[in-house]
Amino acid sequence: MLKQIKGLHHVTSLASDARENNAFFTNVLGLRRVKKTVNFDAPDVYHLYYGDEAGSPGTVMTYFPFPNASRGRHGVGEVGRTSFSVPTGTAAAWMDRLATFDVQGLSQDARFGQKRVLFDGPDGDAFALVESDDERAPWTGGGVSDAMAIRGFHSADMRLRDGSVSQELLQFMGYEKSETEGNITRFIVPGGNEANAIDLERLPDAQAALQGAGSVHHIAFAVENRARQLEVREALIDTGYQVTPVIDRDYFYAIYFRSPGGVLFEVATNEPGFDRDEDTAHLGEALKLPSQHEHLRARLESMLEPIED
Ligand code: ZN
Repeated sequence: MLKQIKGLHHVTSLASDARENNAFFTNVLGLRRVKKTVNFDAPDVYHLYYGDEAGSPGTVMTYFPFPNASRGRHGVGEVGRTSFSVPTGTAAAWMDRLATFDVQGLSQDARFGQKRVLFDGPDGDAFALVESDDERAPWTGGGVSDAMAIRGFHSADMRLRDGSVSQELLQFMGYEKSETEGNITRFIVPGGNEANAIDLERLPDAQAALQGAGSVHHIAFAVENRARQLEVREALIDTGYQVTPVIDRDYFYAIYFRSPGGVLFEVATNEPGFDRDEDTAHLGEALKLPSQHEHLRARLESMLEPIED
């Protein structure tokens, strides 16, 4: 069993409108845009990152906004819901705030004794705010008070027809089975960052998900550094997984592999971080391009729609 994985690093989803996406995450949810760059594999599309002040691993929601992309269909074989943690006692205030912004899909429930506010993102993305005691310092954008601000990721739900092989994989990756409630089983990585839970939701009769705007593209797990990442890569390959070579994403190093239930997994390093090419005080302000795409700057700057007024 691996010991190198410390929880979530980031979650990356697809969107249909960069401007609307930016407004939702910065103004409504109050996260900080920590990087404005492009999809390194398709540089005519933005890659937008939202998180805490530094874009700490375990706080970073990222998007590829493909203009006018059609909506995905939710189902099995995907990350069905992404959850952020908020302070205990703030669910009602969040219900009010999200209603003020006319956020869709608003409801409340509880899972494993924790209150949740469920809501949709701009493209029908499924999110939750989960009340929990979480010591991480929040970013307080959009006029959200320190007392209620998002602390980072709480967990992600993997919706699967048959979770047994994914369960084995999570356990191999260092996650331990925690609790079961109905068809949901929670796995937690001991000694992880606060974004250390994965919920497996078994839906044997559900239709397969179709990826589109509002779908999670992949989910990334955090390792401290490149040495730990190579250990994880070797162990996964020895177990039979097809893992990509290490790819330099400028702000972290990434490896990818497909999990048995269909969800694309990434393992990303905590180094070097988002202050690699701009000061922490100005993260996310300028359009940053990786060196291999710098020669495209003039074209990209004229082509990419401004995301702020
Ligand atoms: Zn990623």
